[in-house]
Amino acid sequence: MTQQIQNYVAGEWVDTTGDDGEPIVNPATGDTLAGLTYSSSDDVDRAVAAGNEAFESWKDTAVEERIQPLFRFKQLLEEQQEELAEILVTEHGKTKQEAMGELRRGIENVEVACGIPSMMQGGHLPDAAPDIDETAVRKPLGTFVAITPFNFPGMIPLWFLPYAVATGNAFVLKPSERDPLVIQQMFELIDEAGFPDGVINLVNGSVDTVNSLITHEGVAGVSFVGSTPVAEHIYETAAAAGKRVQAQGGAKNHVIVSDSADIEFAAEKTLSSACACAGERCLANDVVLVEESVYDEFAEELTAQANEMTVGYGLDDVDMGALITPEHESRVRDFIDGALDEGATLLQDGRDVSVDGYPDGNFLGPTIFGDVEEEFAISREEVFGPIVALASYDTFEKAIARLNRSEFGNAASLFTERGAEARTFRHDAEAGNLAVNAGTAAPMAFFHFGGRKASFFGDLHAQADDMIRFYTDETIYIERWPSA
Ligand code: NAD
Repeated sequence: MTQQIQNYVAGEWVDTTGDDGEPIVNPATGDTLAGLTYSSSDDVDRAVAAGNEAFESWKDTAVEERIQPLFRFKQLLEEQQEELAEILVTEHGKTKQEAMGELRRGIENVEVACGIPSMMQGGHLPDAAPDIDETAVRKPLGTFVAITPFNFPGMIPLWFLPYAVATGNAFVLKPSERDPLVIQQMFELIDEAGFPDGVINLVNGSVDTVNSLITHEGVAGVSFVGSTPVAEHIYETAAAAGKRVQAQGGAKNHVIVSDSADIEFAAEKTLSSACACAGERCLANDVVLVEESVYDEFAEELTAQANEMTVGYGLDDVDMGALITPEHESRVRDFIDGALDEGATLLQDGRDVSVDGYPDGNFLGPTIFGDVEEEFAISREEVFGPIVALASYDTFEKAIARLNRSEFGNAASLFTERGAEARTFRHDAEAGNLAVNAGTAAPMAFFHFGGRKASFFGDLHAQADDMIRFYTDETIYIERWPSA
């Protein structure tokens, strides 16, 4: 019998009682892995009530005690990292190496949150005024919700969960309905780690479940990661319902390759940024602006490297795995057709890839286009597939200006040996995460992570210190004790 996805509420595994959802299917083999029924509004009520009940004592639990289950959770995640990675590969399609890396980045957030006794401290100023001392104290607020996307199902929930509970809040996770299996296993570890019942809850579902959660009167705040239209909807709806909200949206990331750059290195890093996880990354750098004197050399190098990449089942020894669903694969193929219609030059065609033994997989090879004008769809819209768009530039200022005209502002990279270019890039490029001589601008967990423009709605970002501020309110104590 196929596994049925369950909710985890008040320390118990429970069945969901809403409408039937799509089954969970292995993107490489086409095998059905699990069945999913969405959560009804009653299921949501139960999870939020469990959170709020647990919050009453969790908020007053000593901070040293609150972090002990987090330490155990980190240890269990490390012990089961391989097993979790394999589950992640079977439901998502990425390679095992990518899944291991993803989990490592998630575990980093648990490690950072274990430092909450230092991170949550407020401030104290004696003699702020005559005989008056002032103290700032951070307090948790209640039950927080996180709604997460399909592309990093093991990592993105950990941008939020460890900080929420370390600061003394309760937490409800609504993972993507497309690949919820790794979270089922992670919640077995949460159960084993010994968090008090109700402090961490899981509800599965889709649009209706999300809308019940973000307007629920028992919810203090909402974190969201997903596509831009949904991020905007979550931001507006949850804010109108009086919640704290942070909503990360989609992306269209640019790379600039200067003629001073190490071309082989720049090509290698660009290719891995654009094609890792089959391009299903909000940090994929897939528009590459190359200084005209090295454009041909870069295009040749990138194409040669792309030609070497192997595509297949993520549990086999391959460089790139499958796309999440057949529908998504066909959407990405439509972008390829569109680019051809618009007049882009096809330098590397990934459409004919076939993988022995897996005829039902959603596979697509790396695909590279040259001469991509700014108005072409693959230059403006998020593709979320292994497509790279190349264009040449004559002046550095024009390259920065093109990057800045993008609707999105998640990340950008520059490859250069010139300090002055790096400095201009750092000053002028409008994205939340900038990298120089690195393909992917992904911050470690001890820095916060978020984009700008249509890539982010809100002010406090995911991870690290911003999460502590998001999950707490500062009360200021003003005390006058005149000297005896
Ligand atoms: P998605 O927006 O379709 O879904 C994300 C979550 O929202 C899921 O849990 C889903 O159940 C829920 N949802 C979907 N439609 C909804 C609706 N109409 N109303 C309410 N809830 C809804 O995103 P996805 O396809 O799972 O993930 C890919 C997207 O996420 C890409 O756009 C990618 O750039 C973005 N992303 C952004 C970041 C970032 O940090 N900015 C990180 C990862 C992914």
